[in-house]
Order: sequence, then structure tokens, then C-alpha cells
Amino acid sequence: KNGSIEIIVGPMYAGKSEELIRRINRARIAELKVLAFKPKIDNRYNKDSITSHNGKQADCVAVDASQEILEYIKDKEYDLLAIDEVQFFDEGIVELCQLEADKGKRIICSGLDMDFRAEPFKVVPQLMSIAEHVSKLTAVCMVCKLPATRTQRLVNGQPAKYSDPIILVGAKEDYEARCRKCHEVIE
Ligand code: ADP
Ligand code: ZN
Repeated sequence: KNGSIEIIVGPMYAGKSEELIRRINRARIAELKVLAFKPKIDNRYNKDSITSHNGKQADCVAVDASQEILEYIKDKEYDLLAIDEVQFFDEGIVELCQLEADKGKRIICSGLDMDFRAEPFKVVPQLMSIAEHVSKLTAVCMVCKLPATRTQRLVNGQPAKYSDPIILVGAKEDYEARCRKCHEVIE
């Protein structure tokens, strides 16, 4: 059996979760056994499902670390391993994907390829390198309506600063999709 790694990347609102859910559902229709995971940090919506911005869902298990996935899958029979918001996982996720693919499993990861500063996002560039298939999706730029490859972070309506902490106490934070030209980071 031929294992493989697929990764779906792009900015926020590109349809990454939607595409992951579509691939999970197709596998389930084919009566393949799917194990799906997401990091607990992502509690935008329902804790036990992968949810897209347009309301599509697939059941999953929320975990804190790659080690928890390892423990969960170790004595289970399965065909497809799906991981959403993979940018929030620790380095161990790379080896896990590699080992499971080597065993003949199909792995699909989905996540942001760049952070709000447009820099490569943690393990995602590594996963893109070792993957057999990379799908890079675009959203719609909220300024000029051209294809968006980046995620704009806005703090109280203003472009975020490069040095901003991840959580700004008392600030209203928003994210929107933007193209290279319209994306702004204050130095
Ligand atoms: P991602 O996982 O990449 O954040 P989702 O799959 O959760 O994306 O959401 C994709 C959906 O978001 C689209 O189908 C569309 O309905 C909606 N959407 C909202 N804003 C935008 C935008 N700027 N560009 C594209 N889609 C958008
Ligand atoms: Zn633009």
C-alpha cells in the first residue's frame, strides 16, 4: 500500500477547512476509516468538529500536542489521518506524518502557510517540503478583490505591528484575507 502526505495551505478564508472536510467526506463515502484531529487552541467553533467559515463540519478529536495523536492512533486501524490547523502543532507532527505515511497511510494536513507577518508558519514549510501533494488555495483580497495569499491582522482596525504580542489585552483583533500588494505590517 502506498502512503502519502497531502497538505492544503493558504491564508485565512481560502477554503482550507472546506477542502479538508470535502476530502474526509469522500473517504468516508468510500468506506475508508478516517481519524481527524485539530489543536485545542482553535476553539472558534464546536470543539469536536472541524468547521469551515461557511458552516461545513466533520467530526474530529481535539488534542493539545502531537504526542496525543500518536497515543490515539497507535492501536487503531485506519486509512486516512486528517489534521486541521496544523500550524499550531509542535515539531513532533512532522515525524508523525512521515512515519504514518511510510506505513502506507494517507495523511492530509491543512493550515496557514504564513503568519500575519507573511513569514513561513512553524512546521508548515517542513510539511510542504516532504508532502507528495501541495494545494495552495487563495481567498479574495478584502481591499482590491484580487486573489489573496496572505492574512492581514488588524488590531482595533489598524494593521498589526511586526513586534505585536500574539495576544494584546483589551484590544479588538480581526483577521482578513489580502493580496501581497494590500497586505500591511507596521515595522
Ligand atoms: P480556511 O480554512 O482557509 O480559513 P474556510 O474553509 O473556513 O477557510 O472558509 C472558506 C469560506 O469562507 C468560503 O467558502 C467563503 O464562504 C468564506 N469567505 C469569507 N471571506 C472570504 C474571503 N475574503 N475570500 C474567500 N472566501 C471567504
Ligand atoms: Zn489586494
